[in-house]
Amino acid sequence: MGFFKQLKEAWLASVTFDKLDDEFYDQLEEALILADMGVESATDAVAKLRKKVKERLLTRADEVKDALRAILAEKLEVGDAALNLSTTPSIVLFIGVNGVGKTTSIGKLAAQLKAEGKKVLLCAGDTFPGSVLFDALQAAKARGVDVVLCDTAGRLHNKQNLMNELAKLRKIIARECPDSVCETLLVLDATTGQNGLVQARTFKETAGLTGIILTKLDGTAKGGIVVAIAQELQVPVKFVGVGEGINDLKPFDAKEFTADLF
Ligand code: GDP
Repeated sequence: MGFFKQLKEAWLASVTFDKLDDEFYDQLEEALILADMGVESATDAVAKLRKKVKERLLTRADEVKDALRAILAEKLEVGDAALNLSTTPSIVLFIGVNGVGKTTSIGKLAAQLKAEGKKVLLCAGDTFPGSVLFDALQAAKARGVDVVLCDTAGRLHNKQNLMNELAKLRKIIARECPDSVCETLLVLDATTGQNGLVQARTFKETAGLTGIILTKLDGTAKGGIVVAIAQELQVPVKFVGVGEGINDLKPFDAKEFTADLF
């Protein structure tokens, strides 16, 4: 995923891995925090790196980079990053506040799935009427649709309200398509940085999140937010949005991401 190379310069280019003294670790920690990784994740990553370097007697810059890559990848691997579409139909709910890129991501994903030969149905449930979802599921069953992509309301005025609405949607799914797998993807805008984490926390409590789509990574040099979000939610980042084009939604791969960073 060559895309992440763009993040590298702004993120870690200032850190040299040649001299493993306190100054190096301080610099590294600062770079990770500046990249929006969050203080806790950054501190923890640096502490783990110190330990690894000491235990394994690492000295060469490439060894230290590899060790750091592995530490970051581990932070990102908090579950299966692949979308589970194992049933017909499979259902994917998209949640997130207005403007984060839900509709755009749905369009991009629909195009990808279609290109793979799947039959896709879009459900505009963005004002949360359960009846729209009900109709969509009826149509999906009648037409032999593979994947139902369902937009939901972006409104997050009230956590209780959101939870109630999601519970309603899940109930309809359980009734109409009891054997279907249902992914619930939280869409977050990477450019909102640590503010995105505040949103993430609120949504975390709605439970049942199975994945994250992190959009607008092309608009930020602060790629560390990917790590902060995975750590905070303990839910895997499944896709990243890297532009406004139809092909600009990429499956997220922790190993590729960390490989590109330095
Ligand atoms: P929604 O309200 O959550 O459905 O958000 P939209 O899908 O309408 O997106 C809001 C804006 O963000 C639109 O102008 C999109 O083109 C833009 N957008 C979405 N994803 C990305 C992305 O990955 N990169 C960039 N640069 N813009 C994006």
